[in-house]
Amino acid sequence: MTLAKIASAAGLLLGMSSVPASAQSQGTEAQPSRAQQLMGDVAPKLAELTDDVLFGDVWERPGLAKRDRSLITVAALIALNRPEQLRSHLRLARQNGVTETELVETITQLAFYAGWPNAISAVGVAREVFAEKNAQESQVPAPAADAVVVTKAGSQPTVAGSPDNFTGAVEVAMRFQRPLPARTGGGIVSFAPGARTAWHSHPLGQTLIVSEGSGLVQHWGGPVQQIGQGDLVWIPPGVKHWHGAREASGMAHVAIAEAQDGKSVTWMEQVSDAQYRGSVR
Ligand code: MN
Repeated sequence: MTLAKIASAAGLLLGMSSVPASAQSQGTEAQPSRAQQLMGDVAPKLAELTDDVLFGDVWERPGLAKRDRSLITVAALIALNRPEQLRSHLRLARQNGVTETELVETITQLAFYAGWPNAISAVGVAREVFAEKNAQESQVPAPAADAVVVTKAGSQPTVAGSPDNFTGAVEVAMRFQRPLPARTGGGIVSFAPGARTAWHSHPLGQTLIVSEGSGLVQHWGGPVQQIGQGDLVWIPPGVKHWHGAREASGMAHVAIAEAQDGKSVTWMEQVSDAQYRGSVR
């Protein structure tokens, strides 16, 4: 699994760094993740779970916007009086579009629900974090909530496709899920030769743009269609289908789907070898 990229995001939360993930991870493919650096020697499984499950999966889930995830995480850390983790999460919250004003309001509100001393501690941490930001602003302008956001190539975690949902080696890079009211999400999915999705459907359909190689797509009961670099594919809403590489060639595509009630895919059974081999190769 490719985890170096998750690393820098994880590092922010583990309090190891104040450098934005996007600025830190470029050209540093082989570096161990921050979780690995922090605890990999003593607790390698915890480091792995932090990378894979917490930052590779939970934080990436489309059911809640990252901004909202930041807000509730900050609130929990204030309520639990965890200043070290709060420091990292205040930084991340700002990256995720929570303003300083909103963070101060959060602390003020929580004084009445989580206790005065917790709020006072949080103010102290927030003062330091806000000061860092102001010092950095002269070099790297912080993106405003209404600013265009450019995610630099390679700055996002690449995660392996779950064996529950894919056959063969599959990697998903540049995953994104836009916050409500936007519903668009997706990523770049790379299939090794012979690899494919399980049968599945998308509640509001899916667009695929083949960026590399050549592959196959089929809807239930329909013909297997060959697709290649530059082709555009539309999967209508609710249609059971699969897509993947040919046996002789890998394939990568950009996949874009809108979420309905926070869900953009319904997974079903695997595409058996017989089903796959019954197809064109
Ligand atoms: Mn699909």
